[in-house]
Amino acid sequence: MSDGGRGAKGKSRIVVTFGTRPEAIKMFPVVFALRAAGRFDVKVVVTAQHRELLDSVLALASLSPELDLDLMQPDQSLDALATRILTRFGAALDALRPDRVLVHGDTLTTMMASLACYFRRIPVGHVEAGLRSGDIYSPWPEEVNRKVTGVVADLHFAPTETAASALRAENVAADAIHVTGNTVIDALHYAQARITADPSLAPTIATLRERFAGKRIIAVTAHRRENFGKGMAQIAEALQELARRDDIAIIYPLRPNPNVGGVMRQALCGYDNIALIEPLDYLDFVAMMAASDIVLTDSGGIQEEAPSLGKPVLVMRDTTERPEGVAAGTARLVGTDARVIAEQATRLLDDRSAYLAMSRAHNPYGNGQAARRIAEIVTNMLDHG
Ligand code: UDP
Repeated sequence: MSDGGRGAKGKSRIVVTFGTRPEAIKMFPVVFALRAAGRFDVKVVVTAQHRELLDSVLALASLSPELDLDLMQPDQSLDALATRILTRFGAALDALRPDRVLVHGDTLTTMMASLACYFRRIPVGHVEAGLRSGDIYSPWPEEVNRKVTGVVADLHFAPTETAASALRAENVAADAIHVTGNTVIDALHYAQARITADPSLAPTIATLRERFAGKRIIAVTAHRRENFGKGMAQIAEALQELARRDDIAIIYPLRPNPNVGGVMRQALCGYDNIALIEPLDYLDFVAMMAASDIVLTDSGGIQEEAPSLGKPVLVMRDTTERPEGVAAGTARLVGTDARVIAEQATRLLDDRSAYLAMSRAHNPYGNGQAARRIAEIVTNMLDHG
């Protein structure tokens, strides 16, 4: 715990906060870049909205949080979690008294941490700003989390030009918006370098590659709230259909949530060519995407990562706040109808030119330099702001 006040040796103190695995993946490059800039006293505060999944990323990046609010509880309501983040993160701000806070994306941590800053007039920089679906219930509650954060922030790090123009359309001042690329590509490059230097860092996928040698691999993730119930049942049915082919294997890391794990285990156990596995550490996950031929997902971050590895992404959602991948041809929205998912995957497996068109498309999410740009912008703000 800090004594409060200005950071070490008179450096500006920056608190970087996050609570979930995807946020941690996208923020560790920012912490690295801010530290490398040498001008800041950087403190990491985690809310631990996810626990084990977050810890595995903290370990990968060797990040030791200054404060760990440890707010995860089973089955807590959004109200209860939001309230606890607001009060506990507010207390952390009172103890640390940062000059600026950086938040990420669209979780309850993002919104409530921003509000706690606002109540203390501490400026907020929003990393991955400007993603919009246009529907406050899809994704829910993320669309409102990010809009509220956008109202509070004075620096908006938009990953793409599309995100920047969404912010301008909401009357955010043009000079507060910076197009940086997405920091997930920085994280991906870091992960690839680590695995290349030491392949034993991705042990689960090494074992599965041996087990499924000679088969084409479909990597699957599905966890979104909107897909609980009917959507998950349809996704399971599509995977059953695909698993009838003996030239493919399916690898599916399951979230601990029973709305996902329970349904999938029941529907998909007993197929030799389907591996239902525990959530993977990030390095193993990147190795899985690299080893796969197609990625089937309802995740946000994976839509951004897979194209950098040249893997077509079929997005099992009706809308996406990441239209750039669809426009560039790296991703296709296939919804959650079992027949459509199976047909679209089959088309990619059997039609080589359709496959190449998607796998060779340009990745619109950046070149791995986003975190460095963010650190430069924060430094400029300090010098001239
Ligand atoms: N991921 C991981 N292990 C897994 C599944 C996903 O490390 O078993 C990573 C993935 O590479 C991506 C992030 O977690 O960077 C995506 O998280 P998730 O799909 O949970 O959330 P979303 O992006 O939809 O918010």
